[in-house]
Amino acid sequence: MFEFLFGEKEYLSCDWLEYGIHFCYNGIFNCCEFIHGKNYIPVAGVNYNNTYDFTTFFKEKEKARKNMRKGIIPKRCIGCNKPKVGLWSKKLQIKNIAISSVAKCNSDCIYCPNHRMRKQINKIKDVPVYDFLKKCIDGKLISTDCHIEWGGGEPTIADEFDKISYLLLENHLIGDFGIHSSGIKFSEVLVKYIKEWSKKEYRKVMDDPKLSHGIIISVDCGSRELYKKIKSFDNFDKVWENITRYCSAQADYQSDVKVKYIVIPNLNDTIEEFEKFLKKAIEAKVKWVIIDIENQWFSININNEEKLKQYIVIIKTMEKLCKEYGLKQTYYSSFCYLIDKYRDFYDSV
Ligand code: SF4
Ligand code: SF4
Repeated sequence: MFEFLFGEKEYLSCDWLEYGIHFCYNGIFNCCEFIHGKNYIPVAGVNYNNTYDFTTFFKEKEKARKNMRKGIIPKRCIGCNKPKVGLWSKKLQIKNIAISSVAKCNSDCIYCPNHRMRKQINKIKDVPVYDFLKKCIDGKLISTDCHIEWGGGEPTIADEFDKISYLLLENHLIGDFGIHSSGIKFSEVLVKYIKEWSKKEYRKVMDDPKLSHGIIISVDCGSRELYKKIKSFDNFDKVWENITRYCSAQADYQSDVKVKYIVIPNLNDTIEEFEKFLKKAIEAKVKWVIIDIENQWFSININNEEKLKQYIVIIKTMEKLCKEYGLKQTYYSSFCYLIDKYRDFYDSV
């Protein structure tokens, strides 16, 4: 009946396969395996001589969608737990975009998947995204409530950063938007985003505590010595100075500049260090803090209940400290999985 009325049909599929694009530096995919974790492999990679072929991508995508409608799961999706039975629209529309088309970064975090290859990775040319995106916009393929997540490498040093940003700003596609920056380069374009988000039309989604929107900068510590150990370079003062400048561009009620603390076991996992970080955040006029647990450690220790619970206790103490300091606080991907895994224990701490 739904198919007859709205072109919708109930079957097993996933938001990314149906409605997603991931612009990655090594190809264009239906989904973002970096977002979803290690078992999730992109289904339709299309990358010819480092260019993005618009027609081929959508032809492949349609083929995968049609197969899902017939109950045929693409080989590369087997094992992924994202698919769910739902009503899926026959009409092709893009509701999820992940951009990581730039591999280079001006930081070198020890937990970065590219840490050991940073020098080689920094030589990889950015993949041009602007023309592809523009074609999608001109073809009215992108839904107005599309979720966009722009991550690393470092977006602000991407060749097309300004061009793509203005395209998104002009087309009002920044209402459900998160951008991850090292904070090392100050960007006037990021200030533009901040000012634009103060408009009423964007506030509801931007303030949603379930989502991580806005500009997200992982500092992970409150002291210079530790910053150098974690990020390989001494940009501690510069980063906090830039965070302060971004925060001062926010209207009073806004909290779209968020600082993240990735807990790295045996390195920055003390409450003392976290408290130093909170003091720096308050000095910079940050209002929202995000906490996560380092992903590689988490993957290795996924079955070590004792260790994982130990970190739930530590992070719960950090959460309480944020409240005492009057800061909004949310969690990020790996720690959200951890809470889901030990929900009762988390609630009891
Ligand atoms: S099912 Fe998993 S691997 Fe396949 S497109 Fe969806 S998120 Fe990606
Ligand atoms: S800022 Fe992000 S992309 Fe850059 S080194 Fe750190 S984790 Fe990697």
